[in-house]
Amino acid sequence: MAKLVADSTYKIQNLTVNVKKIPFGTKWIKDSGNFRKGDKYKADRLMSGGSGKILGITIHNTGNSADAETYTRATFNQNMNSSRVHFYVDSKEAWQNLEENEVGWHAGTGDKGLGNDSYMAIEIIMGSERGEADRLAEENGALLTAYLLRKHKLGIDTVVTHKHWSGKECPIYILPHWDEFISLVKKKYDELAPAKTSDNQPDEYAASAVYKAVQGKILAGTPEGDLRLHSAVTRQDLCVVLDRLGLFDGLSAGN
Ligand SMILES: [Zn+2]
Repeated sequence: MAKLVADSTYKIQNLTVNVKKIPFGTKWIKDSGNFRKGDKYKADRLMSGGSGKILGITIHNTGNSADAETYTRATFNQNMNSSRVHFYVDSKEAWQNLEENEVGWHAGTGDKGLGNDSYMAIEIIMGSERGEADRLAEENGALLTAYLLRKHKLGIDTVVTHKHWSGKECPIYILPHWDEFISLVKKKYDELAPAKTSDNQPDEYAASAVYKAVQGKILAGTPEGDLRLHSAVTRQDLCVVLDRLGLFDGLSAGN
């Protein structure tokens, strides 16, 4: 099957992040496991009870018989059962599948449990061999983690293992040297330029409207996912919003 095309990409140092987010409102197109055709394909809600507040990052390992693009493609093709993670990262690149502040399914804590409700998931694709590909994947995972910590103003102590939540031996290839991994995250954190902060936290009065606007794809952020909630709207921004609302449907483009 053809490779996926990202909706956008950005760079963190030399790491390319391919952004291909599962749209809100996506449904199962078939019965699968505990899901029935027509069920929601992902949680479809923002973290921390709908406020979108991110509390930290959960690190996972998944086997390296496939790369990050393949895992993302399998997700889009509805072949990943109940796994919905924010990022897959391998020795070459990363793929983002979810909004950073929406609920994923990865921690084994249930939909409302803290691990899923408030933590981003990064799946680092590694094998058991600790060869060069594993080393690069782990380094890319550490860099992505450091970038997200800075972006969302989170402390390094908010980086946790899947094991922390459910007792599962995950990230299985990193657990034996977890402290080394955290040191690598710290090193990457120090290398990255301080605080290219995002403006994704709505004021309370606007939270529900912002959620609907993001869900309805009326409001989109920068490729890095910054919604710039407190920035002013230009006249061309207004045209884009009206267009996304469908108000120009049926109008001739004037040609
Ligand atoms: Zn895991």
